[in-house]
Amino acid sequence: MKLTQQIRVRPTKQQEDTLWQLSEKCRLIYNFALTEKQLCWELDIKGVNYYSQQNDLPKQKYPDYKIVYSKVLQYVLRTLNADYKSFFALWKKGDKDAKPPKYKGKKYFTTMVYNQSGFKVEQGKIILSQYYDKQPLEFEIPDKFKFAQIYQVSVYQKDNNFYLSITYEKQEKEYVDNGLYQAIDLGVTNIITAVNSKGRVLQIKNKRPDKYWFSKEKKIQSRRDHCKKDSKKGNKLDKNLNKMKRKSANQIRDFQHKLTRKIVDNTKSNTIIVGDLAVKKMAKKDDKKKKGLNRAIQNTGTLGRFVRFLTYKGKLVGKGIKETNEYKTSKNCCCCGKEWDMDLSIRTMKCDCGNEMDRDANSSVNIMTRFLSQNGLWTALSEFQANLRQTGIPIQVLHSQEATSKIF
Ligand SMILES: [Zn+2]
Repeated sequence: MKLTQQIRVRPTKQQEDTLWQLSEKCRLIYNFALTEKQLCWELDIKGVNYYSQQNDLPKQKYPDYKIVYSKVLQYVLRTLNADYKSFFALWKKGDKDAKPPKYKGKKYFTTMVYNQSGFKVEQGKIILSQYYDKQPLEFEIPDKFKFAQIYQVSVYQKDNNFYLSITYEKQEKEYVDNGLYQAIDLGVTNIITAVNSKGRVLQIKNKRPDKYWFSKEKKIQSRRDHCKKDSKKGNKLDKNLNKMKRKSANQIRDFQHKLTRKIVDNTKSNTIIVGDLAVKKMAKKDDKKKKGLNRAIQNTGTLGRFVRFLTYKGKLVGKGIKETNEYKTSKNCCCCGKEWDMDLSIRTMKCDCGNEMDRDANSSVNIMTRFLSQNGLWTALSEFQANLRQTGIPIQVLHSQEATSKIF
């Protein structure tokens, strides 16, 4: 499996200078190619694409571009091409906020991507090819990282620090069904509600940094709306706003990383079952009464990412992540199967058969039952049902902070 690791590096003054010299050439290429694309668009000239632009790279004509490793320059064009493609895709969908790629300003450090021929690994160091000066662009890899095979290295700058992004191969562990299962219902309030073969239910509250940042963002937003467009103050507020949004997004991401790591490391089950998110029913977007819920739904986009994290982390330790149809799992009573029309705001399943339990726990039991029966795992199913009866389905609820330290 291909994975990516970010490593912060500390270039010497001279190396930093070299990096900037190289980046500057990449930036110019990006801007030239962008101009060309824009002109062709305006004049309706067809045929200018990544390949034609790559063939026109000015290395032969302008020797000062020779300082950059050739594949790095090609990659810059590829990035521009990708930026354009995603812009057009959004634009065609009618996204009014979609903006075409912009020129990169003087202070912009262009991310430089080195393919396998563009770097060497020697004695725990990564050496990037360049022809600007004799000072090698070599960076030490900390001992805690061991890469068997590296495919690609890119160097980028973020918050005035330099980083290497290393794409490498990591061996997967073979998945073997060990007869133990963990079924997970994913949600916004409770990020996971999991039930295992033993009938134990664990519920973990989602971390919602967006709630914390929301009012702060609102305040700045309204202050910014009173500023003139492109005014100094307005731009500054814009910057602050973006910083907050980034921070909030990073916190969610970080929490998901930690939690998925805990799940795959701590569960004894080799099979982890999750609902198919495509059919997950969430409140409608145009429902104005449920503003709070709407914000929560924007968060569900991140549930797909949660499953991706879980899947790749699982693969590395031999856990299989299996998706199962989630259709009506939250509406049917997990004891008798009777269907109830349950609005999203109703958090408890109350059935006339006597079953009364948390909505999400009910869902997770249904997901487990469905998976086991659809796969003909009858012994596992009857054991699971017997365990449920015995335990009476106690639910352990954890808050996000403690969740990342508890065992499944
Ligand atoms: Zn029932």
